[in-house]
Amino acid sequence: MTTAAGILARCDELARHSSLPNALIERVYLSPEHAAVNALAAEWMTAAGLATWQDAAGNQCGRLEGAAPGLPALLLGSHLDTVPAAGRYDGILGVLLAIAVAERLALSGRPLPFALEVAAFGDEEGTRFGTTLLGSRALAGTWQNEWWGLLDANGVSLDAAYRAFGLDPALIGEAARTPVELIGYLEAHIEQGPVLDDAGLALGVVSSIAGARRFQVVIEGAAGHSGTPWALRRDALAGASEVILAIESIAREAKLIGTVGHLALFPDAVNVIPGRVEFSLDLRGEFDPQRDRAWALIEQTAEQICERRGLTLTSVQTHGAPAAHCSPHLRAAVATGIRLAGGESSPTLFSMAGHDAMAIAALTDIGMLFVRCLGGVSHHPDESVTEADVAVALDAFEAAVLALADQYDADEMDSEFDARAALR
Ligand SMILES: [Zn+2]
Repeated sequence: MTTAAGILARCDELARHSSLPNALIERVYLSPEHAAVNALAAEWMTAAGLATWQDAAGNQCGRLEGAAPGLPALLLGSHLDTVPAAGRYDGILGVLLAIAVAERLALSGRPLPFALEVAAFGDEEGTRFGTTLLGSRALAGTWQNEWWGLLDANGVSLDAAYRAFGLDPALIGEAARTPVELIGYLEAHIEQGPVLDDAGLALGVVSSIAGARRFQVVIEGAAGHSGTPWALRRDALAGASEVILAIESIAREAKLIGTVGHLALFPDAVNVIPGRVEFSLDLRGEFDPQRDRAWALIEQTAEQICERRGLTLTSVQTHGAPAAHCSPHLRAAVATGIRLAGGESSPTLFSMAGHDAMAIAALTDIGMLFVRCLGGVSHHPDESVTEADVAVALDAFEAAVLALADQYDADEMDSEFDARAALR
């Protein structure tokens, strides 16, 4: 049976499948590395007793039947792709915990009132095509046909990448599952924040996942010789700098997170006033209305700054997702799992980072279990978890599934009882 040490050894094995040299990890959607880790995951799923297949979107899937064949499934999953220079646990740990939980339940011989499925999603991070959650959105049935034209950094379209991976874009609809096939989705994931580490706790229950809005902002002034006197300058970068600091203070005030992660200036020369600046903004928070009010204030403030400096401002939203809320009964099952695994308390956290669960929320109820990561560091080679935490996460994840099975059995008995009572 796979132990916590075995799960960590598998994380190390997957980390070797990278497109970057010098032990740095990068594994993007529809790459040779993606194919290699799918093959490994399929091998481990098979060893765990699951029937396996790769779906039409390149997600590696497995299924363990319940008490009878063909029952609706509880889906467990996370992702195997990474950002550039990634850690080895973000997403990966959740997939490996899911496989290990399925293995434990298969070996226990206890018939479950639902099937168990595991999904190892091929794209959550969006590193290659700039659009996130492609794997889980295909499974959720929310695929958008306009994505086929998305290009990677080498000019390869998503459509061409599908074909090169051996997938047929025309069959993408086959990856989509329907609500009646599933009873819910549970995902274990490293916290990607410091709350658990600061509290000295291994595990937490997730209440909701923040929805991000992303914008592309362009500020235009006038390029000119660096000797131009102050009165005549319309410096787009000086204006953008003031706007970015205003974003920081507005977001802080509203208890949101705002990140300007990309900035480009034109013409980008040492003796020329920047005439045009483009930058990205990623704005996220627990509640959508609070986030949307902050964006309205940012836009208004940025317009005032630009007007005062003789600059023009344009912004377009490039991505928008509502916050996804975890279902009360799945939250309760995760909390029960943590308690049964010996956790002194099961703090409730909301996630600032996006997860596959957000996409799956369009299809079925979601729940999430967070695992402490050292210092809250993620998307970085220093990402770290302990073997002890992985062991307790495995126990808690299994106990959460069993708690749901008990709930499910009790509900069935209730409805049988109600049916019999109705006959009397
Ligand atoms: Zn992740």
